Amino acid sequence: MTDQQWRSHWIARCIERAADNAARGQAPFAALVEKDGILVGEGVNDVKATQDLTGHAEIRALQAAADHLGTRRLAGCVLYTSCEPCPMCLGAIYWSGITEGYFALSVAEQAAFDDLPEFQYAEFGRAAHERRVRMVQATPDDVDPRRPFRVG
Ligand SMILES: [Zn+2]
Repeated sequence: MTDQQWRSHWIARCIERAADNAARGQAPFAALVEKDGILVGEGVNDVKATQDLTGHAEIRALQAAADHLGTRRLAGCVLYTSCEPCPMCLGAIYWSGITEGYFALSVAEQAAFDDLPEFQYAEFGRAAHERRVRMVQATPDDVDPRRPFRVG
């Protein structure tokens, strides 16, 4: 198969798994990680089932790939997902070292069903003091926040 045919194959698999997940009453998202043409991790959104708000399909696929490969370093792997990753999942993808990914439905297209990812991308582009979630540095004068980095 050509690269384009492989991409279509993996994306179609994500869409099928996402539809199956939705049919089971879960959120309609699925993702997988592929390395050298081999499926090394796969996941579906399990937030409703687990009450784990980080249970997005991309997170589960990354966890499965890391477990399968025995490393959290996933450079050289490729991520496929039914929808463009939300900012949380994109952050996890950056932590993994993956540098290539493909999605079926864009964040803008997904907004017709759920506009939170689109809102978050816009929000994160704002200065910290302009965001809806208030995050303020609050280090006491007698605490060295760099100390944990020097231990070990
Ligand atoms: Zn996500």
